[in-house]
Amino acid sequence: MKKNVNRFIELARIDAPKISLQERKNEFKEIYSKQEPQEVKQQAERCLECGNPYCQWKCPVHNYIPQWLKLAYEGRIIEAAELSHQTNSFPEICGRVCPQERLCEGSCTLDDGFGAVSIGNVEKYITDEAFKQGWQPNYTPAKRLDKKVAVIGSGPAGLACADILNRKGFQVTVFERQSAIGGLLTFGIPAFKLEKDIIQRRFELFRQAGIVFKLNTEIGKDIVFEQIIADFDAVFVGNGTYLAVKESSFNEGLTGVIESLDYLTSVNQDLINDAEVTLRKQVQNKQVLVLGGGDTAMDCIRTSIRLGAAKVSAAYRRGSEDMPGSRREYANASEEGCEFIFYAQPIGLLEKDGHVCGVKFVKTRLEADAGGRKVLVPVNGSEFEIKADLVITAFGFRPEELPWLTPGQVAVDTQGRIKVSGNCQQSSNPKVFAGGDIVRGASLVVHAIADGMGSAREIEAFLQS
Ligand SMILES: Cc1cc2nc3c(=O)[nH]c(=O)nc-3n(C[C@H](O)[C@H](O)[C@H](O)COP(=O)(O)OP(=O)(O)OC[C@H]3O[C@@H](n4cnc5c(N)ncnc54)[C@H](O)[C@@H]3O)c2cc1C
Ligand code: SF4
Repeated sequence: MKKNVNRFIELARIDAPKISLQERKNEFKEIYSKQEPQEVKQQAERCLECGNPYCQWKCPVHNYIPQWLKLAYEGRIIEAAELSHQTNSFPEICGRVCPQERLCEGSCTLDDGFGAVSIGNVEKYITDEAFKQGWQPNYTPAKRLDKKVAVIGSGPAGLACADILNRKGFQVTVFERQSAIGGLLTFGIPAFKLEKDIIQRRFELFRQAGIVFKLNTEIGKDIVFEQIIADFDAVFVGNGTYLAVKESSFNEGLTGVIESLDYLTSVNQDLINDAEVTLRKQVQNKQVLVLGGGDTAMDCIRTSIRLGAAKVSAAYRRGSEDMPGSRREYANASEEGCEFIFYAQPIGLLEKDGHVCGVKFVKTRLEADAGGRKVLVPVNGSEFEIKADLVITAFGFRPEELPWLTPGQVAVDTQGRIKVSGNCQQSSNPKVFAGGDIVRGASLVVHAIADGMGSAREIEAFLQS
C-alpha cells in the first residue's frame, strides 16, 4: 500500500480518549479507552518514515518503530506484533507506562510543531489487538539445551531476561520473594496506569512455555546465594531497589505518616485479592499531603483521590519543569484535582498527640553558585505550614543492603548498586549478570527490560563460549 508521507499536515495528533473525570476518580481502572482501529491507522499514517528515525535510537530497546507503524497503518496487526516482540518482551506494558515525551515521542521529527506520532499508544494497541485476535507470541524454543539459568527477581528486568533465554532453549528458573510476579509492575504501579491482568496473561504464557517460577522464595533468606551459583550455569540478578530515602529532619514514630511504596503496595495487594482496601479509612474524607515530585508521588496522589480523600496536595522542592516523572502523569494528577505547591522543602512534621497534623516547610529558590551552576537554596524567614491528616513520603529509593551477595563475589558500589563491567551486564563474578534498578538505581520499566534482554544475550554468549 503506497503511503502519502505528508499526511501529518492534514491529520492532527490525537491521543487515546480518557474516561470521564467522575468515573476516573472512583475506579482503579486504566483511564485511557481503546482507540478505534480507524483512528489508530490514521495516527500510524502520520509517521513521516524519515530516513534517520531518532525515535528508534531514543527508545531504550530500539524498537523498529517506523516499520511497525507502517504495518499498523496497513492493518497487518499480527505481523506488527511479531516485529514488536523482536525488540521488546512487553510492548503493551511500555506503551502504557513509558514516559514517551522524554523517549521515543520526544525525538519524533513531528514533535517540533506538528505533535509527535502517538507511538506509545499504537505500540499498546498492536499487542492488545493481536492478543484479542487470538495471536500468541511464539515462546517455544526449537530445542531444549542442557544449560540452566537462575533469575533472581521477577520484575521487568528478570522477566525480560527469562523470556529471551527461554526462547533460546535454556532451562530458566525464576526466584521471586513475593507471592506474584511482576515486581513494581504488580505491587508499585497502580492499576489505573497498568491493569494487573496484563501481567497475569504473560505469567500464564511464560509458564506454558516452560519457565519455572519459584514464588515466595527469597534468595539470601530461603536459599543462600552460593547454592544458586553452584546449582546453575549462570545467574541473573534483577532484585530492584526497595530502601526508601528518608528526610532526616522528620521525627520517626508518628502515626499518619506512610512511605509511598508501603502505601501503594498495601492498596495494590488488597485490590489484587479483591479485598476491602485496608488503608481506605485512613484516607477517606481526610486531607492528604504527598511529598515528592516523581512518578511514585503522582501514583500516591491519584490513589488517594480514588480512596475518597477530602483534599490531596503535593509539595515539591523544585519547580514543575524540574519534576523527574512523566509530564502525562503530572497532567493527570492535576486534572484529577491535586493542588501542587512548588519550591517548598519540608523541614519537619507537626504533631498532635502522637499523630501527624501537618508539615512545616521552607520556601526554596534557584541561585547560581560560584561556578555558575543553579543550585537550590532555602529562602530565609519563609517558613510556612500545611495541615494534613495523612502524609505520604515519596523521596525515591535506593538498593537495600544485600549482604547475601558478598559470598557470591558480587561487588556493589558505594550506593549499594551491583557493579557491572563497562557497557556489559556482567558482575565481578563472571557467572553472575545483573540489570534493572539494582544496577542503575531507581529508573524506568523500559530500561529494566533493555537490561534484562541485553543480559540474556550476554548470558547466551557466555554459556556458548
Ligand atoms: C510507584 C512506582 C511507580 C512507577 N511508575 C513508573 C512508570 O510509570 N513508568 C516507568 O517506566 N517506570 C515506573 N516506575 C519505575 C519502574 O517500576 C522500575 O524502574 C522497574 O520496575 C524496575 O524493574 P526491576 O526489574 O529492576 O525491579 P522491580 O520491578 O523492583 O523487581 C524486582 C523484583 O525482585 C524481587 N526480589 C527482590 N529481592 C529478592 C530476593 N532476595 N529474592 C527473590 N526476589 C527478590 C522483588 O520482590 C521484585 O519482584 C515506577 C516505580 C514505582 C515505585
Ligand atoms: S518502548 Fe517506550 S520508548 Fe520505546 S517505543 Fe515503546 S513507548 Fe517508546
